[in-house]
Amino acid sequence: MNDCLFCSIVQGHTPADIVYQDEDVLAFRDIHPKAPVHVLVIPRKHVRGYRDAEEKDEALLGRLARAAASIAESEGTGAGGFRVVVNSGADAGQSVDHLHLHVLGGAPMGWPPWPSG
Ligand code: 5GP
Ligand code: ZN
Repeated sequence: MNDCLFCSIVQGHTPADIVYQDEDVLAFRDIHPKAPVHVLVIPRKHVRGYRDAEEKDEALLGRLARAAASIAESEGTGAGGFRVVVNSGADAGQSVDHLHLHVLGGAPMGWPPWPSG
């Protein structure tokens, strides 16, 4: 029994605003966008998080990364600039345990994420 929210989106049980899909990858708009463009890029198969990707997932990670860049272009943020983020674990604020890349853009963003000085 899998009660994963993003698996439910993959299966079509939970609705989402899908912007890209292929046989391995699904991308949809974040329900609570943190930037004018905020798309989540996920593998169709359940991978719990970034630390859980294995050697056999290397090609899948590449597909996710290339999909993120392609989506940034199709969303109109390619030239202006965008950010790809993976939150892993509690300190980073991971709230859904199904690997996902955030594609953020459409406005200037702050950096760094933690005030070191
Ligand atoms: P995390 O905090 O794990 O890095 O990112 C999870 C993201 O999933 C959050 O930005 C959150 O807004 C988004 N999210 C949570 N529930 C849903 C949902 O039901 N639909 C969509 N499209 N996004 C969701
Ligand atoms: Zn899942």
